[in-house]
Amino acid sequence: MEHKKQTACITGASRGIGRACAECFARAGYDLYLTCLHNEDRLLALKDMLQQRYSITCRTAVCNAASYDEVASLFSQIDTLDVLVNNAGISHVGLIQDMSVSQWDHIMTTNVSSCFYTIKCAIPLMLAKGSGRILNVSSVWGNTGASMETAYSASKGAVNALTKALAKELAPSHIQVNAAAFGIIDTDMNKCFTTEELEQVMEEIPAGRMGTCQEAAELLLQLAEAPAYLTGQILTMDGGWT
Ligand code: NAD
Repeated sequence: MEHKKQTACITGASRGIGRACAECFARAGYDLYLTCLHNEDRLLALKDMLQQRYSITCRTAVCNAASYDEVASLFSQIDTLDVLVNNAGISHVGLIQDMSVSQWDHIMTTNVSSCFYTIKCAIPLMLAKGSGRILNVSSVWGNTGASMETAYSASKGAVNALTKALAKELAPSHIQVNAAAFGIIDTDMNKCFTTEELEQVMEEIPAGRMGTCQEAAELLLQLAEAPAYLTGQILTMDGGWT
């Protein structure tokens, strides 16, 4: 089916789920705004590859999603937006009593405030179009909580609540807000675990394996293209784990 050229902004797109998401959306014909925290070379190489392979327009920016000023500066260059994918995020594994206040603040700002910053900037663009899709990348730990990952769980629980509340606020304006709560996806985020630890986790997962970035990206694209009546949902994809 022929559909109008659409534009998506994906945060934290230089690697992992964000990178796979960029390629998935490019393949579907979206023009892109991609951001990364540090690795501009990798993001520029991705941009060149996507533009050549999929004949789309891709713009990139180094932008700390945890800084409102940087996010506002990025959005001052965006004139049209259909889909916002809040993907940038960090994890923290350890006992809560060993966590410093600055570590707590860092995870909350990076995982939760970053969503507020991009959403605040994206809403006027979406209101101007009379439509839009906001997708937040969440985690099963935001649904159920994980020992040793309390701050991360709290941050993704906040992302889930933000998703549900904002969906109600924006539904009258024809803007859908949904989240994907992933189980364990094979990315650098899980490099902090040993092979033995990961094997133990695999045994608990009915699907017997980690999810792939490609699978995560496909779910995000499907959410971006889901019927307009789907909003306020936290879609869990975890191989039957939780
Ligand atoms: P990853 O570490 O490979 O990628 C995270 C990306 O976010 C990186 O590109 C990183 O540079 C970027 N990022 C981090 N802080 C940033 C900041 N302040 N500003 C801009 N970009 C920043 O891990 P991933 O697994 O691809 O993570 C992507 C998202 O998926 C995260 O929100 C994560 O919480 C979520 N998630 C991952 C898993 C998993 O098992 N991998 C499971 C559930 C949810």
